[in-house]
Amino acid sequence: MAGSIRDVLVPTGVRPSTEVAVNAVVEISRDAFDAVVMDLDGVITDTASLHEKAWKRMFDGFMATLAPHEGQDLAPFENEDYRRYVDGMPRFDGARGFLTARGITVADQKVHALAAQKDNDFQDLLVKEGVRLIPGAQSLLIALRRSGFRTAIVSASRNCSAVLSRAGLSDFFDASVDGVVAGELGLPGKPHPAVYLEAAGRLRTPPERSVVVEDALAGVEAGHRGGFGLVVGVDRGGHGQELLDHGANVIVSDLAGLGVASSAMEGPRL
Ligand SMILES: [Mg+2]
Repeated sequence: MAGSIRDVLVPTGVRPSTEVAVNAVVEISRDAFDAVVMDLDGVITDTASLHEKAWKRMFDGFMATLAPHEGQDLAPFENEDYRRYVDGMPRFDGARGFLTARGITVADQKVHALAAQKDNDFQDLLVKEGVRLIPGAQSLLIALRRSGFRTAIVSASRNCSAVLSRAGLSDFFDASVDGVVAGELGLPGKPHPAVYLEAAGRLRTPPERSVVVEDALAGVEAGHRGGFGLVVGVDRGGHGQELLDHGANVIVSDLAGLGVASSAMEGPRL
């Protein structure tokens, strides 16, 4: 594996010490790897702001229909609520968690309806406002394709292909394992490695010849448990140590820290 990582001289699969691993500059080469499997939200696209807006629209609209009641807090949904109750959670659990925290009791059927409404609002916002790309995402994808890497996207989202298409990035990936595919195949979500292993399988590449790029704790843990050759944790929020603890081999503070070695092994693919 020597030569696969520049500036961070650690054998793949061995957890490096924090001193060299955080804010690392990592260069991946075709000598060591054949494929790169990436998470979507937080690595390639930034749809968190759209999700937050959709939750707010739905919750504020719903709470406006309720008569004030002892023990209920009907104040507008705030960013703090987003981070504490719904970010990264399955839709139903997020909706239920927020309502419970506000002292609002409703039947499961109503929670499902509210969660479905949030998804409709999200899709609406996706069309109207578009998708913001994480800085460096497109140039990284271009560099990977030019060097002959096979690429896949792995996301829990059922809106993954809509987001990729809206961002104009559909053609950059050879395979996709999103919430729809995982549902069809009955694959457990991250931190179980099943979705990442399915992606590597679709790229016809063994995990040890594949790189995982992730920003979530559950995601790096999935890559580590799946035996992937290199798990890169993307940390823009100062949670590098936690990512390392969950199985990342190296931490980059943004995608500029992830380089692609030029290789003569294959010609350009784009
Ligand atoms: Mg993510």
